[in-house]
Amino acid sequence: MASRNPSPSAAGAAGLRPQFQRLAVLGVGLLGGSFALAAKRAALAREVVGYSKSPSTIKAAIAAGVIDRGADSALQASTGADLVVLAVPVAAIGPLLRQIRLGLGDSALLMDVGSTKADVAEAARDALGKAALQFVPCHPIAGSERSGVQHAQTTLFDGRRVIVTPLEDNPSRFVDAATQVWEALGGVVSVMSPSEHDAAFAAVSHLPHLLAFAYVYAVARQPRGPGFLQLAGPGFRDFTRIAGSDPTMWRDVFQANSAEVLQQLQMFKQALAGFEAQLRQGNWNVLESLVRQASQARQDWASPSPADDAS
Ligand code: NAP
Repeated sequence: MASRNPSPSAAGAAGLRPQFQRLAVLGVGLLGGSFALAAKRAALAREVVGYSKSPSTIKAAIAAGVIDRGADSALQASTGADLVVLAVPVAAIGPLLRQIRLGLGDSALLMDVGSTKADVAEAARDALGKAALQFVPCHPIAGSERSGVQHAQTTLFDGRRVIVTPLEDNPSRFVDAATQVWEALGGVVSVMSPSEHDAAFAAVSHLPHLLAFAYVYAVARQPRGPGFLQLAGPGFRDFTRIAGSDPTMWRDVFQANSAEVLQQLQMFKQALAGFEAQLRQGNWNVLESLVRQASQARQDWASPSPADDAS
């Protein structure tokens, strides 16, 4: 178990003794690999053990120095670990928690990094029973459209917001320890409920991804689409970067947060209908006014850091 009162800033400083004996990372992809690298930089654990679905991923993670050793199963990786991080697509979190439940020590801290939170909180309660009090759901607002351990970065969480959404029965020592872990990794923690998280991220992450996928689909499938795409420039690149994201991860996100995403989609369709009506009716001044309001809102939005490309 993490020491209860480490200084979050000191925890990341070089030369300090690790707070954890063993960090187990389940799902050694972009997020899991970056967590492992950042944990190593912060000397957070004496040993980093990884488990991932594909043996080739484990091999690559060892070869790149992301993890110290691999495990043959999630249970093997997490048995004896005092910090367990699940970095798999959100629908895989419940089944993985069931697999590791019997090996968990009663002071081990469990966290995830999934992009949705109400479903993960429910899956943790179902899978872990009483041990769910050790599981603190988290979502680092850091990442990119690239997947896989080959894209893992030590600095991925530096200066990035991390949303922590405690379960009602999480003792504060587990929530505090989770907060200290993220701060040691360079993150800036905000705490909110899982449902507040899902409503907000439906608006600012899940809907934009849905729109980017649908837009690229619409252009690519029209007969002249391939030719049009060859002419596309920076505007297209900026608007569609996230349409290159991992399909499995996004299927899971849309499924897990479908009610909130549908609500945001309704609001978007109303706005789009308004823009379309001005276009059809030739109300160019009204259309300009709508564009002006959107442009101003975008300029007023203060980006937390230069690379706002997280999910
Ligand atoms: P990723 O690069 O594809 O990594 C996921 C890893 O999990 C892969 O290495 C994958 O398989 C492994 N995996 C999948 N199912 C598994 C299972 N049942 N058991 C064990 N390992 C399994 O994806 P990611 O971007 O890191 O996303 C991971 C999580 O972070 C997701 O929940 C996502 O919602 C969340 N997230 C992503 C971003 C982002 O921008 N990408 C941002 C914030 C949060 P292999 O072993 O086959 O390689």
